[in-house]
Amino acid sequence: MTLDNIAEEINVAKNIAILTHESPDGDAIGTSLAMFLALKQIGKEVDIIIPEVPKAYRFLPGVDEIKTEADKSNYDLVISLDCADLKRLSDNSQIFEEAKRTINIDHHGSNKMFADFNYVDPASPACAQILIVVLNFLNIKITKEIGSCLLTGIITDTGGFQYSGVNAETFEFTAWLLNRGVNVSEVYRKVFQIKTMPHFELRKLVIDRLEFLENNKIAFTYITEEDELKVGAENGDHEGLVEIGRDIEGVEVSILLHETEKGFKVSLRSNDYVNVSDVCLMFGGGGHPRAAGCLLQYPLEQAKQKIINEVKNYL
Ligand code: 5GP
Ligand code: MN
Repeated sequence: MTLDNIAEEINVAKNIAILTHESPDGDAIGTSLAMFLALKQIGKEVDIIIPEVPKAYRFLPGVDEIKTEADKSNYDLVISLDCADLKRLSDNSQIFEEAKRTINIDHHGSNKMFADFNYVDPASPACAQILIVVLNFLNIKITKEIGSCLLTGIITDTGGFQYSGVNAETFEFTAWLLNRGVNVSEVYRKVFQIKTMPHFELRKLVIDRLEFLENNKIAFTYITEEDELKVGAENGDHEGLVEIGRDIEGVEVSILLHETEKGFKVSLRSNDYVNVSDVCLMFGGGGHPRAAGCLLQYPLEQAKQKIINEVKNYL
């Protein structure tokens, strides 16, 4: 599809809903809010539906207008952002399926191209970078508010400009946003630096339980629902924990199992050569070559053995 298709669909739609993936991260929240503010700017009737917004992103403009559930379906147009798979729209997938038209804007290599119009660029390190191009094409003014949302996506998905996917555009866009009044150091501090108390408590547990396997090439750790209850964790408080194992010398793959009501959510990170998106695809998940996830509906020990055995095949 082309940007012309996106412009045309937005043009003719009377009401639009914006959706993103479950357990939303900074890129998911940032791009959804940026698109929401952009469509309001051009006078569209638009709903943004995100069941849970992690604390770190609640300072973003437009966040008070987020609906936790839809009060209608049958939208003329639904736009999904930063989401690779219809399954990951989770409770919102019905809204997606009942829409007259659908657009999927994303940057995951594992994207299932599940919409009527799919605009997917795996070379982009953050969906926010794709959205800057889209909004410019639509002649939308990137205000300081929209810019702060987009920068949140860029900072979180690039690990603060450090991952290998970062390209010259990442810095060009950031400089461009700076020129529009976006406070880069404030956004950086709020989304990247400040940690919640429950996150800190989980961090201690995760470090304590860290195991090294296969000549230290695999780091494994976990958190249970009981742990989260004990420390009063909220959605998003486990973000960044899988990186602890990844950043230790000699580790190639870091594994975090995070218990949810659906089962153990697996987060994988790699450093040099293991394509963790491929590993997760084996279990119906996906992601990026160096950061990916899937769901394992087994008890802890079984989930642990299954994911470790699969990772071993890629070492
Ligand atoms: P995280 O480990 O931070 O939850 O996710 C890492 C990356 O993998 C993110 O880009 C995320 O969107 C993707 N991801 C995580 N879980 C899943 C999953 O179950 N399915 C798919 N397709 N992607 C996932
Ligand atoms: Mn993303």
